Amino acid sequence: MRRPIIAANWKMYKTIDETKQFIQNFLPKVSNIYDREIVLCVPFTSLYIASEMLKSSNVKLGAQNMYFEDKGAFTGEISPLMLKDIGCSYVILGHSERRKYFYETDSIVNKKVLVALKYGLTPIVCIGETLEEREQNKTFNVLETQLKMSLSNLSSLDAEKIVIAYEPVWAIGTGKNATPQQAQEAQSFIREKYAELYGSVVAEKVRILYGGSIKPENFKQIMEQKDVDGGLVGGASLEVESFYKIVTCDKK
Ligand code: PEP
Repeated sequence: MRRPIIAANWKMYKTIDETKQFIQNFLPKVSNIYDREIVLCVPFTSLYIASEMLKSSNVKLGAQNMYFEDKGAFTGEISPLMLKDIGCSYVILGHSERRKYFYETDSIVNKKVLVALKYGLTPIVCIGETLEEREQNKTFNVLETQLKMSLSNLSSLDAEKIVIAYEPVWAIGTGKNATPQQAQEAQSFIREKYAELYGSVVAEKVRILYGGSIKPENFKQIMEQKDVDGGLVGGASLEVESFYKIVTCDKK
């Protein structure tokens, strides 16, 4: 049984005060939930307060990016060592917004994945096709290339630890989610490729999340799919009520 993960990606939203308020209201609502992991990936400036507030709770902390060196003259960057130090367990890597606006390539993502693992952070590695690629029937090719290149030189042991997020680019922040069937089709393909790369035991263990315009109304059906092990949630994770409903969508 794979333990589901529901992770919030707050992107560049929320001040320290807003973070405090969210966590104060959110924690009591989810304090009894242990059959799934709940993760808040907050902006760097909110990591410290979030870390203090989440200590000894069942909610884990994540960052949204990091550099691939542990220290050095890299102005403006943040290292895996620093993320570990502040209490992060997870880090989102290769999000399509980073690929698009900050020119992150699969090989940069790969360096980040390897170094995150070295410091004991669990990478949530995002892969997904654009609308154009889907329309040209290139979805599987794109997923296979991104997967192989982002995870290059990974041992089977490490491959089991990481989390993959299938995030079709056309579904992110657009209000247009993938259908449960589209999510299942892509995610079973990812699991198949995983089996080819790392063996079927590892492929059965790796958790594959869906991300892209998840809402309380659409997530239950997506979560019911065999190869969907949770969600990476952007916009709908910014409000306590909607994120809580997503976290608990199949409990009602
Ligand atoms: C995301 O940021 O990873 C995401 C899926 O965003 P949204 O839920 O807003 O589409």
